[in-house]
Amino acid sequence: MATDQYDFADPRTRYRSISPPVQHQTEPGLQSEMTPVPDLGEDTYRGSGRLQGRRALITGGDSGIGGAVAIAYAREGADVAISYLPSEESDAKHIVDLIEAAGRTALAVPGDVRDSVYCRSLVAATVEGLGGLDIVVSNAGKQVFVERIEDLSDEQFADTMHTNVFAAFWIVKAAVPHLAPGSTIIVTASLEAYKQLPFLLDYATTKGAINTFSKALAQQLAPRGIRVNAVAPGPTWTALQVTDGFPPDMLPEYGKDSPLGRSGQPAELAPAYVFLASAESSYVIGETLNVNGGSPTP
Ligand code: NAD
Ligand code: MG
Repeated sequence: MATDQYDFADPRTRYRSISPPVQHQTEPGLQSEMTPVPDLGEDTYRGSGRLQGRRALITGGDSGIGGAVAIAYAREGADVAISYLPSEESDAKHIVDLIEAAGRTALAVPGDVRDSVYCRSLVAATVEGLGGLDIVVSNAGKQVFVERIEDLSDEQFADTMHTNVFAAFWIVKAAVPHLAPGSTIIVTASLEAYKQLPFLLDYATTKGAINTFSKALAQQLAPRGIRVNAVAPGPTWTALQVTDGFPPDMLPEYGKDSPLGRSGQPAELAPAYVFLASAESSYVIGETLNVNGGSPTP
């Protein structure tokens, strides 16, 4: 096991190749109850002052990729607000404790991002609680597999759209008036935007939309000094997968078809979000940073 993200290591074995047992939870699921529990970099992420004094909002920051980003941002010197669903309080507490252990302010703002009123109040609470806002990470997401379009309910289609696309629009729209030049917006797209699993029709559609949203918005906001980018993760071991994001009987093989031969851990996503949030990426705008274990993308 490497001691931090900078250790020279073979990427095939830098993180364990896991074969998760068949398991199932109801949405949104608790990461703490997964087997194995995902690695968010709790024991390995080492900060080096790359986000000193910034104020970040991360949706879905209680677990998985958003949780790993929250830990990394705090260790890079940022104060961090996280949003999550009320049922995820125990996972959120784990992240809040780690943000505070890094010596930074943590703000927990539970609520449902399918509600535009909550989205606007989330931004307001963050600005109030952290004294401003410089980094917005729109990351909350819904992924539920359905084999046949005839079985994909109108309700699920709308829910996936609201969680993955509308929420990003509402949150970013509310945040922009607070963002000074130098601020950054990062959305979470997916490999699914380019390489679709047939049973993720609604999900893949939203990820294509959010990727395109980031590219149009990037051009709109660049002249105002605000950078917009996307991260597109590949198969990453998170609670999404055990809450019907992926067929339960296929979990033991999850991610093994990636060129690297294993799924990714949330800890491996965090550095991409740090890079795009930090001023070191000042000339990177409208980009999608693919972190997917080697699958080619356009
Ligand atoms: P995760 O379950 O750990 O995180 C998703 C979070 O979204 C949840 O913790 C929850 O707090 C939040 N969320 C869901 N519905 C919500 C709602 N209605 N209101 C408020 N919050 C809600 O899983 P993750 O894989 O870390 O997901 C983070 C992002 O990464 C998602 O956008 C997902 O689509 C994307 N992604 C994941 C993978 C992967 O393989 N895990 C691959 C590509 C993209
Ligand atoms: Mg969660």
